[in-house]
Amino acid sequence: MTGIAPISSSGYKVFFVEREASLAFQKEYRKLPTEEREEFLKNKRLQVAEIEKHAAECEEWHRGVTSMRKSELDEVRSARADAILARIDDLGYSDVTEFFEGRIELIERKVFSIPRPLTDKEWARICPDLLWRLDDYRQQITERMLYNPRRKVLVGLYDEYVRKPAPPGAAVDILPHVADLATFPPFDDIIKAPKGTSVGAESFQAAFAQLPSLVQGWRDDIEAQLGALVVTPRESVDADSPTPGYTGPKPSDRLKLASAVFSKEGGVIDMFPDVILPFYSHSLFNARCVHTNEETVESITADALGALPWSLTNPHGVPIVQLFTPAADVVRACGLDPRTATREDMDARNARLICKDCPSSPPLQHCRTWKNAIRHACEVHRHYTKTHWTLVDDVYMDRIQAAEGPPTDPVSTVVRCALCQLRAGEPLTQWDINYHLQNKHGIRMGEIQKGVHYFFTVTAMRRSVPEVIMRTEGGVVLFEST
Ligand SMILES: [Zn+2]
Ligand SMILES: [Zn+2]
Repeated sequence: MTGIAPISSSGYKVFFVEREASLAFQKEYRKLPTEEREEFLKNKRLQVAEIEKHAAECEEWHRGVTSMRKSELDEVRSARADAILARIDDLGYSDVTEFFEGRIELIERKVFSIPRPLTDKEWARICPDLLWRLDDYRQQITERMLYNPRRKVLVGLYDEYVRKPAPPGAAVDILPHVADLATFPPFDDIIKAPKGTSVGAESFQAAFAQLPSLVQGWRDDIEAQLGALVVTPRESVDADSPTPGYTGPKPSDRLKLASAVFSKEGGVIDMFPDVILPFYSHSLFNARCVHTNEETVESITADALGALPWSLTNPHGVPIVQLFTPAADVVRACGLDPRTATREDMDARNARLICKDCPSSPPLQHCRTWKNAIRHACEVHRHYTKTHWTLVDDVYMDRIQAAEGPPTDPVSTVVRCALCQLRAGEPLTQWDINYHLQNKHGIRMGEIQKGVHYFFTVTAMRRSVPEVIMRTEGGVVLFEST
């Protein structure tokens, strides 16, 4: 037959035809005497018109059947939904379905949209999982509608609390994030008081009175968890040592060791207590942000509090802080025992080191302090399980220190609010602090002053001494500043 559908391409009309049918048609047409050809074409056109008419009728009929079928299916689905909703209501979940205002059928479409009547047998099969999810939805509703407004009251109160100076004898230099505060039992009890309990600012007064001891407990727990990570690698201890793998004093005291250096997400290393502060604003450690579109109790809580409580792992349970083991190699290279040498011991030893893992060869070599050496290992040899160092002869120390000159500005700084006590999750960059000062203290952009409203500080790991280059020329050793 003739073409299926003419399409226009580059101005030409193109017909798709069935090749065999087309050739047969042409053959038949040519055989005819010229005077009969007109009649032949006319009949063919009539035939085609007849077929097309029939096809259209067929399509119409088919549409009708489909739509009838669809409305039948809709009726089945609707009856099924009513049956499920009735059973859910009987089990006492009408508060959940009413909260979602008809959206429960969409949220639970895997259960609702099957075009099949609900039988008792099927209900027995789907019921336990469905009820488990309904319990979870109910918990989400409670978190969002009842607990979150209370949590927001707490956020405001804590913002006010940190603006007052630390009480006399406050033993903790870094306060927790409000996400941790909300988990402390006296605060948690108020947030989770039963529906109908009136909760306002005054409700939290007694809990705030207990805050210093609660914060101390929080801090002790963190120290124990971080301290437990400080286990000197066997390779960093002398082969003839009587106690390889020695784990030193109790976990919290291990944090004073020079080898207690931690690597965090984002390729950053820090020592305690800096390690419990995030390095940049949206760092997961320590005030963990939640990056999820899922509605979970955790993410709803974090909506109100801005973060998740302190943890050594991310929300998926993956560790986000680890011991940076090359630090032990550096301590060992200075001739001290990484299991016992404290930061003070290393500062007193005041050695300089040259990295043996860098391809740089004499006569040009960088002489680094122990902290600079550890930072170098993090920046250049981050994935090495062991690093190697040459100790620079102490006879050169006077000349090296003369070349280093007086301590310079730190490599990088962090910004702190001068009007608040330091707490985890605080702003750290100039941009953050400007936002914080405007948002939390009502100070206008043009009025923000360094030294009055904010100050620069530096973490222990980044407080550094300039590196010096050791050059050997014709047997003579020279030291130059970089
Ligand atoms: Zn190196
Ligand atoms: Zn502030």
